[in-house]
Amino acid sequence: MCWPLASATLSLVNDRAASGLAHILVVEDEPSIRQGLCDVLTYRGYAVDSADNGRDALAKGEQGQFDLIVLDIMLPELDGLSVCRSLRSNNREVPVLMLTAKGDEQDVLNGFDAGADDYVTKPFSVRELLARVQALLKRNSRLSTAAFRAGPFEVLPERGCARSNQTQVELSAREIAILRLLTDDPGRIVSRRTLLRDVWGMSNAGAVETRTVDVHIAKLRKKLGLEAAQLLETVRGQGYRWCDSSH
Ligand code: CA
Repeated sequence: MCWPLASATLSLVNDRAASGLAHILVVEDEPSIRQGLCDVLTYRGYAVDSADNGRDALAKGEQGQFDLIVLDIMLPELDGLSVCRSLRSNNREVPVLMLTAKGDEQDVLNGFDAGADDYVTKPFSVRELLARVQALLKRNSRLSTAAFRAGPFEVLPERGCARSNQTQVELSAREIAILRLLTDDPGRIVSRRTLLRDVWGMSNAGAVETRTVDVHIAKLRKKLGLEAAQLLETVRGQGYRWCDSSH
């Protein structure tokens, strides 16, 4: 097999300081691929644990200490889709990156259906894998506790509130996550689908769910008052965007 991991790890050594110490679980029964994944992620600076079958993967995943799970679909004892479904039914919201067979679209659809967040197809490049890993970790860190600005407000996630010179309003964790996603990149249109995926963790959204977003946005606007509410713009047919470019 021509697997590019060994040579690629060398060029990644210089980057290792760039990543955090997120804890990743690698689930793969093929020893060479599992070892390659563990090596490359370790070199990249992640704390890595591994499992070679679905039952172990589920047991480890249930302990809840992972920031991300890289999950193969074809596994002994319990397949990856069942592992993912079980984690989700037990309210484990850990991001799951599926490894799927090349050209097997049904794998991808089944993966999303089981609650996976993203996928890479085998054989994958190290660069692609790391890009997906980083994107998922970043998405998840939107739930982090650091304060941020939203127009006239300073939003304080740990206190569950937003403060301006004039006022203080209480916000739910979900409202804070919505604000963080929108203010992260002012001017960028964020679709309802993206909001549902990143804030609610839903990968298959229908009409009922998209209305949920609208209801939350309306409530948020009311709480923030006129000045901030005007910054949270509806883009007809597309989604929402934060219009304040002053920060
Ligand atoms: Ca396998």
